[in-house]
Amino acid sequence: MSLPDLLASSPLAFVLCTLVLGLLVGSFLNVVVYRLPKMMLRDWKAQAREVLELPPEPPTETFNLILPHSRCPHCSHQIRAWENLPVISYLFLGGKCSNCKAPISKRYPLVELACGLISAFVAWHFGYGWQAGAVLLLSWGLLSMSLIDADHQLLPDAIVLPLLWLGLIVNAFGLFVPLSDALWGAIAGYLALWCVFWLFKLITGKEGMGYGDFKLLAMLGAWGGWQILPLTILLSSIVGAVLGLILLRLRNVETSTPIPFGPYLAIAGWIALLWGDQITTSYLQIAGFR
Ligand SMILES: [Zn+2]
Repeated sequence: MSLPDLLASSPLAFVLCTLVLGLLVGSFLNVVVYRLPKMMLRDWKAQAREVLELPPEPPTETFNLILPHSRCPHCSHQIRAWENLPVISYLFLGGKCSNCKAPISKRYPLVELACGLISAFVAWHFGYGWQAGAVLLLSWGLLSMSLIDADHQLLPDAIVLPLLWLGLIVNAFGLFVPLSDALWGAIAGYLALWCVFWLFKLITGKEGMGYGDFKLLAMLGAWGGWQILPLTILLSSIVGAVLGLILLRLRNVETSTPIPFGPYLAIAGWIALLWGDQITTSYLQIAGFR
């Protein structure tokens, strides 16, 4: 029996394989979340120097998603392959660098674990097939962009835009919704938040969200069609209000501190894509429309 045959015939094998794959991808997402914003900043600085006709900065070491290899930030000890196994290495090393014993952030194993569990759940929800594969890519993108937005108030085009195109492409084959629904979803998603942004700005003079949020909602519309947009916006406000209040309590931050909207949109869009139909139906039932 070949591996695709096994995965297609045994849901358990598929979920377990996806769990392991998700853990490994989570390890890579940690690198993306840490390095992509730094790479973007380097690019912007280089471009700004060019526009200002300043001499370019002296070349430094290669810095991309692959190179240089991961090092301990305290002692520059290069992380070996066995120290880089998702979650397991962290537990085995007791959360400390093997060389200098400096503590390793708990966030790394947590992101790996979250990515593994989300991936396994997607495999279980959709079963073996193209839908599961596509939603895995989407989920990994949403997870990494949410973390980057939480850290830097930035939704990288380098992740959002390829996923927008991918949503349109998979729906050109009718994977989730007909292509016309996906196209209008992308357009309406962008315009909906664009309108909110300008209304808010005209009334209060403040900028409530960024252009990255418009692109993110356009991307979600390209995946789930225009139908998921109302639910996504509703859910994101609920998730935002609940998590926002918790964060305000926990961190004791000022209410005017900007809270990134991207993670809430990402969570809401993911929920709407997986359970949108059921949620809308039961909502309409409760409201007495069906
Ligand atoms: Zn170290």
